[in-house]
Amino acid sequence: MNEITQNLAQVRRRLLEAERIAGRPEGSTGLIAVGKTWPAAVLAKAYRLGIRDFGENYLQEALAKQDELKGLDIIWHFIGPIQSNKTRHLAERFDWVHGVDRLKVAERLSAQRPVDLPPINLCIQVNVSNEPSKAGVGLDELRSLAESIIRLPRIKLRGLMAIPAPSDDFDEQRGAFRTLRKALEELNLEGLDTLSMGMSDDLEAAVMEGATLVRVGTAIFGDRL
Ligand SMILES: *Cc1c(COP(=O)(O)O)cnc(C)c1O
Repeated sequence: MNEITQNLAQVRRRLLEAERIAGRPEGSTGLIAVGKTWPAAVLAKAYRLGIRDFGENYLQEALAKQDELKGLDIIWHFIGPIQSNKTRHLAERFDWVHGVDRLKVAERLSAQRPVDLPPINLCIQVNVSNEPSKAGVGLDELRSLAESIIRLPRIKLRGLMAIPAPSDDFDEQRGAFRTLRKALEELNLEGLDTLSMGMSDDLEAAVMEGATLVRVGTAIFGDRL
């Protein structure tokens, strides 16, 4: 077995174990393989091992890989920082955009989404650690942003996403994810079914708090190039 095969088996074991401990149904956590810096051939390997959801951070790199992997039934997630002048490519080439924290970006995605595609799936990024320098909307502004975005015609608002400040402490990791889960519950808006949270180092804590999509790079592909 090569490294990706073993790594992926390990990640799947970790998810199943966390789901078991959390008392959640087996397989209820979706896995996005984060392929940033890795070439298309490496992503194709993960595809052959059953991965269908891929996450990318850098637009130009992602577009090139999408061209190379055309024809595969991949669900593409954009998880990187969004420049509002680059939304057209996101609207045309991605199935999901995580990390939206401004109405203007959502409005542009809605306006630019091609009519022959279904509405684009979107998650609002929340700054759960309340770090001033960090991306994400504050909890105090979340409701007004969500209520504006949910009205946009070509957007399907799916839920919330967060990248908490890294911590080695399990309870601290859980606390940040709990904040996101509670924020989703408190919003209580129809059709919101997604908590996009948890990465290689904290996916167990995220599953314990109800993550429906974890975004995992290093634990699958190894240290980034
Ligand atoms: C890179 C990245 C990931 C994956 O991180 P790993 O620690 O390699 O699993 C997840 N989410 C976002 C937003 C990222 O930028």
